[in-house]
Amino acid sequence: MIMTGPEMEAPTRVKRLTDSSIINVDPNRNPHLYLRSGRELIRNAASYQEDGQTEHAYMLYMRFLTIFLDKIRTHPRYNEIPPSERKLMSDYCNKILPQAEYLKKELLKKYEKEHAEYLVHVELLEKRAEELRRKEAKEARERAARETPKSRPHPAVGGFANIPSLRNDEDLFVPNPDALVNLTPGLPMHGAWTDPHDIKCYVDAMELAEKEANAGPSPSAPPQGPSTIPTPSVDRSTKPDRFMTPMSSGLRPIVVPTSLATQFLRLAQANNARNVETCGVLTGKISGARLIITDLIIPKQTGSSDTCAASNEMEIYDFQDKYNLITLGWIHTHPSQTAFLSSVDMHNQYGYQVMMPEAIAIVCAPKHNQTGTFTLTPEGMDEIGNCRASGFHPHAKGLFGEAQHYTLDPSVSVKVHDLRN
Ligand SMILES: [Zn+2]
Ligand SMILES: [Zn+2]
Repeated sequence: MIMTGPEMEAPTRVKRLTDSSIINVDPNRNPHLYLRSGRELIRNAASYQEDGQTEHAYMLYMRFLTIFLDKIRTHPRYNEIPPSERKLMSDYCNKILPQAEYLKKELLKKYEKEHAEYLVHVELLEKRAEELRRKEAKEARERAARETPKSRPHPAVGGFANIPSLRNDEDLFVPNPDALVNLTPGLPMHGAWTDPHDIKCYVDAMELAEKEANAGPSPSAPPQGPSTIPTPSVDRSTKPDRFMTPMSSGLRPIVVPTSLATQFLRLAQANNARNVETCGVLTGKISGARLIITDLIIPKQTGSSDTCAASNEMEIYDFQDKYNLITLGWIHTHPSQTAFLSSVDMHNQYGYQVMMPEAIAIVCAPKHNQTGTFTLTPEGMDEIGNCRASGFHPHAKGLFGEAQHYTLDPSVSVKVHDLRN
C-alpha cells in the first residue's frame, strides 16, 4: 500500500508517488489498445488537475509517460504499431512532459510546507510529554517523601532524601533522544537515567510508597499509588493519524443508475440460461466533481461459464470516441457462482483501475440474488500490478472489496448499446 505523509521529506514523498505511477505493459494486450486508453489517461489526468487533485493528476501523467516513453518499446508486438501512431505517442509525450514537471514542482512546494508544519507539531507534542513527565515525577517524589517515615530509613541507601540524583527536577533526567520512546506509566524510561543504582532506589522507594498508600487512607496523601498516574506516551514510530494520506483516498464519487443491473441482466438472460457469462463496459461523463454512468455498452464477445471477453475492443473505443463517453468500469455476470472477483476478474479490473482510479467492477449473480460493486484495494493494485500470471491462479485474500465511493441513483437513466447484433 502506498502511504505518503508529511513525516517524509518532500523529495522522498514525490519519489514515492512517482514510483507508484510505474506500471508494466501487458504483453498479451494489443499494443494499439494502449494508445487508445492512453488518450483516456490524459483526459482523466486533466480532469483531476482541474479539480485541484494534483497527486492523482501527476500520477496519471507519469503513468502515461512511463508507458509511452519506455514500457511500450518492450512490447513483443511493438513493431506492429505503424510509424504514424508512434509519432502521435511521442507528440503526446512532448506535450505532457512539461505538464508533469510543473505538477512535480507544485507537489514539492506543498509537501515542503506540510513537512515543516509536521515538525512543529511533533516538537510541541514532545515538549508537552516532557512537561507532563517532569510533573508526574515531581508529584511521585513528593508523595514518597510524605509517606516514607523518617524513622524507617531505606535499607539500601539510608533514606530517599539521600539519593543525590533525585533531589531536584534538573537532576532527575538527562537529555536523551530515546527518552520519549516506550514511556512506561509511573516508571522512568529506559535510557533516561545515568546510573542503574538510581533506578533501583527509585523503584524501591515507589514500591514502598505504594504499599503504604494501599495499606489504608492517609490524611496526608491521596489514596492512589503511583502506578495509577496517567502518563503521556509518545512513540515516534506512531504518526498522528490526520497526517497519513493513503493514496486510495481522494476518489471522486461515482453515480450508478439504480436500474443498471436489472437492464443488464435482461440482456444477459439468454446467456444465463446456457450458463455463459456476459460482460459490458460502463461509460459516462464527468459532471462537476462526480462521475456518472450514463451508457452501458455490450460489446461483441465470447464467454464461458466462468470467463467473458470482448472480441473487438477497437469497436468499443470507436463507439466511445463517437459519443464522447469515458470509461468508468465494467459489469459482468456470474451465471451460477456468487458475486466476487476471480483472479482473471482482478487482472481485468486492474487494467481499468490504472487508467481511472475510480473505475468499478459490478458483478451480477442472479442465482444467488447478489450484486457486488467492487474495486481492488491498494494492496490488490500492488499485487496484481506485479503479477505476470494469466488464466485462473491463486492470489491472497483481501485484494478487492466493496467500492466505497459509489452511490445508486434512481433518477439517472442508462442507455444501453448492444453491439452484439
Ligand atoms: Zn467474474
Ligand atoms: Zn495474478
